[in-house]
Amino acid sequence: MVEEHAVGVCSGEVETVDLLAGLGRVLAGEILADRDFPPFDRATRDGYAVRAADLAEVPARLEVVGAVKAGDWPEPGVCSVGRGQAVEIMTGAPLPVGADAVVMVEHTSVADRPADRAVEVGRSVRSGENFVPRGAEALAGQVLLDRGRRLDHAGIAIAATVGKSRVQVFRKPRVAVLSTGDEVVEIEATPGAAQIRNSNSYSLAAQVQNAGGEAVRLAIAPDERGRLRSLIEDGLGCDLLLLTGGVSMGKYDLVEQVLGELQAEFYFTGAEIQPGRPIVFGSCGADALARVDGQAAAGTRARAPAPHKKYFFGLPGNPVSTMVTFELFARPMIEALAGQTPQRLIFLRARLKSDIRTKTGLKRFLPAVLSGEFENAEVELARWQGSGDVAALARANCYVVVPPDRERIDSGEWVSLLMR
Ligand code: AMP
Ligand code: MG
Repeated sequence: MVEEHAVGVCSGEVETVDLLAGLGRVLAGEILADRDFPPFDRATRDGYAVRAADLAEVPARLEVVGAVKAGDWPEPGVCSVGRGQAVEIMTGAPLPVGADAVVMVEHTSVADRPADRAVEVGRSVRSGENFVPRGAEALAGQVLLDRGRRLDHAGIAIAATVGKSRVQVFRKPRVAVLSTGDEVVEIEATPGAAQIRNSNSYSLAAQVQNAGGEAVRLAIAPDERGRLRSLIEDGLGCDLLLLTGGVSMGKYDLVEQVLGELQAEFYFTGAEIQPGRPIVFGSCGADALARVDGQAAAGTRARAPAPHKKYFFGLPGNPVSTMVTFELFARPMIEALAGQTPQRLIFLRARLKSDIRTKTGLKRFLPAVLSGEFENAEVELARWQGSGDVAALARANCYVVVPPDRERIDSGEWVSLLMR
């Protein structure tokens, strides 16, 4: 059911790209094994291909009748293992006919006189030991990567293994990023005394790319209805619109009102989290967009949105809130738009290094530093001045998740982490 939804919001448009250009892209078709893997019984150790029965009693002396290295093909009859015989074999080489195990070279010694062509084996092996039988990893025709899978380096390796130098992927969703606020200026500008630079458009663009989307940064919208509306309409021409700022309760927080004028349907306005409480999520339906389209036809708009339902998020303007709400809400939406099979967010766990004191009522995401090794993961809160404090993120590498009913968490307790 969830998958249907994902496919439902994905454009379904497909393109074929070079394998490495497929990194981070979502597969539009399955990747199948083109032959058995491994394609032959493959030795996993350097040593001697033997018959396990010959080593029931050790030490045993076997006649060495050949050698096979990776890339060699041991012709049956020419290079096979009979009773009392062994073939020298290297990791990755095919097991000769007759052998049913590999004994590691570490457990053997060769006769002083090489002319003897004999090996002394000091240890028994089980039949099947130290090689992977043909087809044990995958059979020819088997699905190795499903449609909807996002390609990471392991997926790239799998595609390469089956000879896919080009892969079919879904078109990346185009995600408009629209920052709002009279105080916000472009990053090239020298800010006035009361102005701040537009970092959100950049953090969001980076997060969008990271999630598999293509970011389209729009101009900064002032806290003024007409211009804000016009930029929102531009943004609705993309597959998804992310707004930041202007969603709180302030007099100049106009985003919800303007979206309301566009007959937006709101799925939620606000979440019981901190940072990020004022987030809104909704869509503009075909009707409103068709009207925008009509204006475009009349030459009033530069780019016309396609007339079907478009989703938007209004994210809070405080930079840390913007980032956290993106990860929790916008990332899964972008993944769905990209055609990716839905993934659950992964929360790691670590032991708290120092006590946390906070207020109850909201689920909190507090910037923190994860450290420690292997099974000794430890975490402590980073020093920060609240959700406007971007500099704190330089000290943090994750967020501690504090459940809404916890006023204090003592050091030593295990806590959940949202990674970033
Ligand atoms: P708002 O949600 O519009 O009330 O904004 C909350 C806070 O976030 C204010 O201090 C804003 O100055 C700041 N802020 C809003 N938009 C941005 C942006 N694009 N980049 C950096 N900070 C922002
Ligand atoms: Mg604002």
